[in-house]
Amino acid sequence: MTAPFAWIRPESHGIHIVPADVWVDPSHPVPRALVTHGHADHARGGHGTTIATPATLAIMELRYQTREGAVPVEYGESVSIGGGVTATFLPAGHVLGSAQILLEHAGERVIITGDYKRALDPTCAPFQVTPCDIFITEATFGLPVFTHPPIREEITKLLKSLHDEPESCVLVGAYALGKAQRVIAELRAAGHHDTIWLHGAMEAMCRLYEEHGVALGDLRLVSDAPSKEDLRGSIVIAPPSALNDRWSRRLPDPVTAMASGWMRVRGRARQRGVELPLVISDHADWNELTQTIAEVNPHETWITHGREEALLRWCELNQRRARALALVGYEDEDD
Ligand SMILES: [Zn+2]
Ligand SMILES: [Zn+2]
Repeated sequence: MTAPFAWIRPESHGIHIVPADVWVDPSHPVPRALVTHGHADHARGGHGTTIATPATLAIMELRYQTREGAVPVEYGESVSIGGGVTATFLPAGHVLGSAQILLEHAGERVIITGDYKRALDPTCAPFQVTPCDIFITEATFGLPVFTHPPIREEITKLLKSLHDEPESCVLVGAYALGKAQRVIAELRAAGHHDTIWLHGAMEAMCRLYEEHGVALGDLRLVSDAPSKEDLRGSIVIAPPSALNDRWSRRLPDPVTAMASGWMRVRGRARQRGVELPLVISDHADWNELTQTIAEVNPHETWITHGREEALLRWCELNQRRARALALVGYEDEDD
């Protein structure tokens, strides 16, 4: 293989590192996989060997009940994966354990970001800007309309709603991996130390975060509340799917909130019956995407996993080489 970067090949179901025969975030089981983070669209079960950070492997073990073939790699540690290719995991700032993967072969450096954000998050290590030749970036929120406000503003809105309606509770829809823990940690940082009540689906992941050193304060299960009355004036966190189902009937007059980058789009909030949209995302917004490409300053940017066209156009206007990849199967479990 003599052509530059011929060793790294984007296929429809993942990125293939040809000389090592290893796949990055493959969407179906393979003999050997590198996994950027624990969200289901990146971390599938059933690979022969899974190389990932210890926290990502713990999340996968929790979800798939197996640790077979798990190879832990710490942030900053470089491992040889065969075929003369070295892999290094670097923090991506997305969720606990999330990593960008730096691949080096024959003097060429490629970074696959997985999902990432630049806003600081008390529940995970911050994104590390690292020079490379090819930067493969996600583009979930790759349109200029997507700007995520500082999370403190959204947390203030949430606490205001709680205090304005002391006879209700505020039910926050948040994904079980990452978003829920970040919202809880930010509430604690804002001085809210009351019990936060959880849907049962949140419990194991919150415990896993605490085992990895992320303090979340007093958490209790809604199913353990002595009565509905105990939930008045409280925050309840549940998966988005539970917002409008039968489960929420046990709550006292809930104000329905949802923490997601898509809450920027009014129609999405309305569709879900969300009264209090909270624009909180674990992905880079438009400004973070363009800022990151400028800071990393790669020779070439490959764009995937979302709205590629606008970012491609931005690269062209800024005299940056870029191409859009057509990977499939990456849905926003984690927006
Ligand atoms: Zn993700
Ligand atoms: Zn993703």
